[in-house]
Amino acid sequence: MSIKANEFLQVNYLWDEEAASQLDPVERLRYRSNLLGADQRITNTGGGNTSSKIIMTDPLTGQEVDVLWVKGSGGDLRTAKKENFASLYMEKLLELQNIYDRAPVKGVKTEIEDEMVAMYRHTTYNLNPRASSIDTPLHAFIPHRHVDHMHPISVIAIAASKDQESLTQEVFGDEVGWVPWQRPGFDLGLVMQAAVEQNPQLKGLVMGQHGLINWADDDKACYDLTLTLIERAARFIAGFDKGAQTFGGQKYQALDQDQRREVLVRLLPQLRGMVSQENRFIGTIHDTERVLQFVNSQDAARLAELGTSCPDHFLRTKIKPLYVDWDPAQQSFELLLEKLASGISAYRSDYIAYYEACKHPDSPPMRDPNPTVILIPGLGLIAWGKNKSESRVTAEFYSLAIEVMRGSEAVSAYQGLPRQEAFDIEYWQLEEAKLRRQPPEKELARSVVVVIGAGSGIGKATAHRVAREGAHVVCVDLDQDAAQATADELTKIYGMGIGVAGTGISACGPAIGLGADVTQRDSLRAMFAQVVLAYGGIDNVIITAGIYVAPDREGQIPDKLWTKTLDVNVFGPFLVADEARRIWEAQDLPGTLVITTSVNGAVPKKGSLAYDSSKAAANHLVRELAVELAPHVRVNGLAPATVVEGSNMFSRERVIASLVKYQVAFDESETTDQLQNKLADFYAQRTLIKTPISPDDLAEVAYLLSSSKFHKTTGQIFSVDGGLPEAFLR
Ligand SMILES: [Zn+2]
Repeated sequence: MSIKANEFLQVNYLWDEEAASQLDPVERLRYRSNLLGADQRITNTGGGNTSSKIIMTDPLTGQEVDVLWVKGSGGDLRTAKKENFASLYMEKLLELQNIYDRAPVKGVKTEIEDEMVAMYRHTTYNLNPRASSIDTPLHAFIPHRHVDHMHPISVIAIAASKDQESLTQEVFGDEVGWVPWQRPGFDLGLVMQAAVEQNPQLKGLVMGQHGLINWADDDKACYDLTLTLIERAARFIAGFDKGAQTFGGQKYQALDQDQRREVLVRLLPQLRGMVSQENRFIGTIHDTERVLQFVNSQDAARLAELGTSCPDHFLRTKIKPLYVDWDPAQQSFELLLEKLASGISAYRSDYIAYYEACKHPDSPPMRDPNPTVILIPGLGLIAWGKNKSESRVTAEFYSLAIEVMRGSEAVSAYQGLPRQEAFDIEYWQLEEAKLRRQPPEKELARSVVVVIGAGSGIGKATAHRVAREGAHVVCVDLDQDAAQATADELTKIYGMGIGVAGTGISACGPAIGLGADVTQRDSLRAMFAQVVLAYGGIDNVIITAGIYVAPDREGQIPDKLWTKTLDVNVFGPFLVADEARRIWEAQDLPGTLVITTSVNGAVPKKGSLAYDSSKAAANHLVRELAVELAPHVRVNGLAPATVVEGSNMFSRERVIASLVKYQVAFDESETTDQLQNKLADFYAQRTLIKTPISPDDLAEVAYLLSSSKFHKTTGQIFSVDGGLPEAFLR
C-alpha cells in the first residue's frame, strides 16, 4: 500500500524535495530527522534515531570510505543539528562483531554488550566528538543505506498489545516482521541482522513493547515508508475506535476549565510539597480533552497500574504513575488532599519494594521514590521533573502512553513492560553513567524565583543573575511588557528546552513575564496563581520594585504622593509576603524573601522625607516579616545607595536637578547616559570605595541572600553602597 503525500490522515507529511535537494547528504539526514521529530505521533521528544550510510573522503588516506551517520546519544530529532549525529567507519563497526563473537558469554544484558558501547569510539570517523547511542548497532547491522527507528503511537499500540505478533502480521502482512522485546544493544542489532538475512524482502520490523524500525536505500523513500507504516497502523486502530466506550467509558465528569484552574491553584503548592521533601520538583499540568477522557475513565486505575511500555517513557514517568480515585463532583478538596498524601506514601513504599525485588548486586542506589506523574479525575495529569523542560517531557511521555493504551485497548489488550525489564532499563549501568556525567546541579536549580520589579534596573539584573544559577524566573513588573521583555531575554539565552507538553501557561519555558501592581492584593494573588499554574509553586521572592517621588521646588511632596510612596515601598512588600506566605506554607519547604530597601532608611537627608521614611519602615518590615515567616522563610533586606545606571527612578529631569543641587558642571547637550554617569561618579566620590554602584552589584547580593550560602541569616539588612559611614547600621 502506498499513500500519496496529501493522503496522510494520521501523521503530518512534511517532505519538501525542493528544500531537500539543496542539502548535502548529511544535512539531508538532519532534515529528515527534524521532520520526523516534529510530530509526536511519529516519535516522542528525545526518542528514536535515524541514520544514513554515506560515502565520504577519509581525512587520513584521501580514499572514499563508507560512513554511518547516526543520531548520537542525547539530543532530540526535532531539534537535532548536524553536531548531534555521530559518524563511524562502517567497515570498523562491522568488524566489532568479531570482538563480540569472541566473548565467552554473550547475549542480551551480558557484560560484553555494555562493553561494546565503549568500543564504538574506536570507529569514529573524522574525530567527531558526538558519543554514539546504544541503538548504533541497530543501524549498523541493517544492510540498507537509510534506517529510521521511531517510537510511533500507533505502532507501539500494536507492539504493546497482548497479541502483538499476530497483529503485526494482520496490519503489515509480509512486508514488516516482528521481534520480541529485548533491551536495545549489540545483541538486538544482531537479531535484526539475522531477521533481514532470513527475509531479504522485509522493509521493517515491529519491535515488541518498543517501536518500529524500517529502512530503504533512498532517504526520501525511507521517510515515505516510515510515514506509510505509521499511517497504516493508525488507520487499522481507528477502525476499532470504541468512541464513548473508550477506556471502559467515563466514570467521572471533568470539571470545567475555570473550576480546574481554581482547584489546581489551591492544590499544586500542597502537592509540590508532598513530592519535594527529598528533591524539589517543577510541575507541568497537561489537561487536554484526551488526557481528561483517560483520567475520568472506568479503566484508568487498572491501566495506570500497568505502567508504560516504550523504554524511553518510563525513564521519566517511572514504572507507573500515581492514580488517585477522587470524585470531583461529589468529594471535597480536603478528601483529595488526604487521598494524595496516602497515595504518595503508598507509592513510595511500592517503589522501594520494586527496587528491592528487582535490584542486582551491582545496581545503582535507589533514586527518588516519589511519583513523577499524578493522575487526578476531573483535573488531568500533573508531571514533575527537575526543571521545566524535564517536567514537560514527562507530561508528554505519559500523554503519549495514554494514546498507546487507547490504541492497544481498542484492538486488543494493553500490556506494560515486565517489571524486571523496566527495572533493568531504569537502573541500567549505562543510564547511571550518563546521569553521573551530567554537571552538578546549579545553586538555584529546581527553584522558582519571583523577581518583582524585573522590567528594569536592579530587578532586571537580578532576573539575569538568578537565571544563571539555574532558577526558573518569574519576571514581574507593573509594566507587563517590560516584564515580558526580560523573560524573553532569558528564554533566548537558556532556550525553551525540549519537552512539548503542558496546557496554557504550564507549557512555558525557563522564564515567564507577568504584570502586577504590588499595592493591590487581587493583582498579586492573580499573579501568584499564574506562577503556580506555570511551575507548581514558588521558592524565592525578590522585590526590587519601589517608588521615589521627587519633591517640588519648595521641597514639598503632595499628601497623595506621600501615601503612594508608603503604599509601594512598605505596604507593597507586605502584600507580596502575605500572598506568597500562603504558597510557602502549603509547600512546607524552605524559602526566602529579599526586600530592597535603601541606605536612606538609615540616613536622614534633606528633600526626600517620604522616600526615606518609607525605606526606614521597609527596613523594619524586613525584621517583622523575618519573625512572622520563621522558621521556613528567611527574610532579608538589600539596601542600595544611588544606583543610577539602568534605574527608572533617575529620569533626565531628576539627574539634572541633582547635578544642579550638587553643583556638578554639565552641558544640556549631553545625553542622558552621560549625565547619569556624571551623577554616578559624583555619588561614588562620596563613598569609601569610590566606585559607582551598578545593578549587577545589587543583583549579586540579592542572589546570595536567596541562596543556601546565607541559609542561617534572616532579619538582616545588607547595604550595597560603596561604603557610606553615615549609613552604618548601629
Ligand atoms: Zn527506541
